[in-house]
Order: sequence, then C-alpha cells, then structure tokens
Amino acid sequence: MSDSTRDVASEWAREDLSALQARGLRRGLEPLDSAQGPVVTMGGETLVNFSSNDYLGLAASAAVRAAAIAAVERYGVGTGASRLVVGDTLAHHRLEARLAAFERAEAVLLFNSGYAANTGILPALVGPGDAVFSDALNHASLVDGCRLSRAKVVVYPHADVEVLGSALASTPARRKLVVTDTVFSMDGDVAPLRGIVEGCEAHGAALMVDEAHATGVLGARGAGLCEELGLESRVALRMGTLSKALGGQGAYVATSRVVADLLTSRARPFIFSTALPAALCAAAEVAVDAVEKDVELRERLWRNIRRFAEGLRGLGLRAEARSAVFPVILGEPERALDAARRLREAGVLVKAIRPPTVPEGTSRLRFCLSAGHTLGHVDLALEALRHVGVHDRGTSW
Ligand code: PMP
Repeated sequence: MSDSTRDVASEWAREDLSALQARGLRRGLEPLDSAQGPVVTMGGETLVNFSSNDYLGLAASAAVRAAAIAAVERYGVGTGASRLVVGDTLAHHRLEARLAAFERAEAVLLFNSGYAANTGILPALVGPGDAVFSDALNHASLVDGCRLSRAKVVVYPHADVEVLGSALASTPARRKLVVTDTVFSMDGDVAPLRGIVEGCEAHGAALMVDEAHATGVLGARGAGLCEELGLESRVALRMGTLSKALGGQGAYVATSRVVADLLTSRARPFIFSTALPAALCAAAEVAVDAVEKDVELRERLWRNIRRFAEGLRGLGLRAEARSAVFPVILGEPERALDAARRLREAGVLVKAIRPPTVPEGTSRLRFCLSAGHTLGHVDLALEALRHVGVHDRGTSW
C-alpha cells in the first residue's frame, strides 16, 4: 500500500525541521497572556517587553481600544468581502482621508498589512522589461514584492548611494523603480534618503519607501523620515504600517491620485483579499490623532532611545540614537538564543533574531524601545545586558 498524502507531507516536514534544528533556526510560538505593551505576561512570568513594534504604546491605549469597540458595535467584526465587492465602509474612507492629511499626500490607499502592501504595490508598477533597485537590507516583504514583479532586480549594497547611482545609469530598462526602507527594521539605521531621491531624479526613476519603523517615530509631526527631511513631495510612494507605532494592524501607501487609482485596479492583495475590519480603521484614526497631537508620547520615546543608546555605549557596544530599534549583533544563532534566555531570567523579554530574517552570521538581539517604557525599564535592560556580558559583533553591513 502506498503512503497516505499525510505521511508524505509529514516526512518532508520532519526532514526540513531537523535540518533547521541542527542550524539553530527552528522557530516556535510563545503566546502572551496580556495586552501588548511595555510589560507583558508570558508563560506565567511578568516581563519587560523589548521586542514589540508598539513604539508609542498605543496598541492597548484607552482611546484606541474605545474607538475599536465603538466601530465593532456599528460595523460588526468581519467585512465580508474585498473592498471592491462590498467590504468597503465609511471607516475605510475616513481613515484614508485622515492619513492623506497626516502624510500631506494627494491620496492614500489602505492595505491589510505591510506585507500585503509591499507584495502588491511593486508588481502593480513594474514588470518584465523594467528594473527595480533594492537595498540589500530591505524588509522581506519588499524582497518578495520585487520577485513577484518579474522585473529585473538589482540589489545594491546597503545604503550605498554611489553604487545605486551607477546601477541606475548602466541598467537599461523601460521603467526604473528604486525601493528602500527608511528605517531598516533589523538594524535601526536610516537610509541616505536625500542622496537616493537625487539619484532617482537624475536618472528618471520613481522611488518607493517603506516607513514602517519611521511612522510615529521620526519627523516633527511623526510622519516619518520623508517628513523629517522635507522630502514628502519628492517620493512617489510612501508606504507606512498601522501595525507598529500606530498600534493596530494594516498598512497604507501615500501617493498621487492616479497611482492610487492604478493600485485599486491592479494590486492583487488589495483586489483579492477581504477588506481590513472597520474597527481597525477606526482605531488607526484615533492613533494618528495621538501621533500628531500627543507630542509628549514621542518625547518620551526619544528620552528612552537616548538613554538606551548612551547605556549601550557605556557597555562598549556600538549604538546610535537614530530610531527605536537597536541591534546587538552576536553572530551565530545559538549565541543570540542563549543571550535571550539569560536576559529573560532577569525579567527582560528580547527575542533572538536569526537568519533568514537577518544575514548569516549576524544573529542578534533586537531591542525595541517604547514610549511606554519607564527609565527604570530601560535601565533594567542595560543592567541585564551588563550582567550577561554580551559583546557586539558590529553592524550587519
Ligand atoms: N516593512 C517593514 C520594514 C517591516 O518591518 C514590516 C513588519 N515587520 C513590514 C513591512 C510588514 O508589515 P506588517 O507586519 O504590517 O505586515
């Protein structure tokens, strides 16, 4: 008798899992038993959380919760269809208008996640015969968007404007699109955006940026690196997420009306996926208000960022206060896993980040600061790091 299809698949999985295990790359889940925030409970322990992208502590804030609850009462939970069918609500349109004002953009289009936005936008704009130029440390969703587009993909060395410029000059293509994170998600450094914009302008290329870790963190109004540098109107597509500093779920792109119209007709994750729940739209609207008006939130985040950067330098580690993300690069996966385990014993929750999320040999602890952390929390993490005695292996580029 032949094997059941279940046995066949299980055998594949056993084979691949043991290979991952041998390299320290097997992953597992560990649920929280609390709301997201600076302090969480996990496995019966209370831990200070340094692995969340909830940079402003809005995920569980009273105003955001209340907005979501009110929208659930009005619209229910599921949207029942994609936006182009019958899943579109006034809450989606209100949020798009609010985000367009926040981003000072002609148009904003929502996506269900940052992953959906990036894998949808790139293939909608470029295809065979075109070229997309992508930073070597761009987020996986941009990498996958590049692959799905079937355009020629030119990966330029991290943050290297010179190489990007020569690649733009020497690559023949119908359309040229440059794509970069603004704050790099695993390193916390910032793209040389002015140089990238100038390179694009010199070579007739369009530019798309991913502001996932910059929205709510950078810029006087919290609108990201483009705002900080006054480059909003020179960047064709500015993608941001609702899932990090905005404390919810979903994503958006700020762009021109005509590009938003094209994406509405062509971006596959937009067309073929059920609309974002209205409650998440209503929650995000309140979160954007908080980002713009509650300046103290961002001040507290930056107070924590500065304290942590200084403390890391005091421990002999390299650190720049440029975003809420701080890598401590340890090398092999086991070293990062071991350091995470020991920090956890000291009450500090920081997850080990391993390949393929980061390049081979650069497994790390990735600390994320939040406005919700007290200085006491920040000092606890520093003290735990001192105790564990980690030695940073430098940056990953
Ligand atoms: N872009 C970047 C730079 C990210 O870090 C992430 C999430 N980790 C995403 C996109 C994907 O966003 P989402 O989690 O909303 O799918």
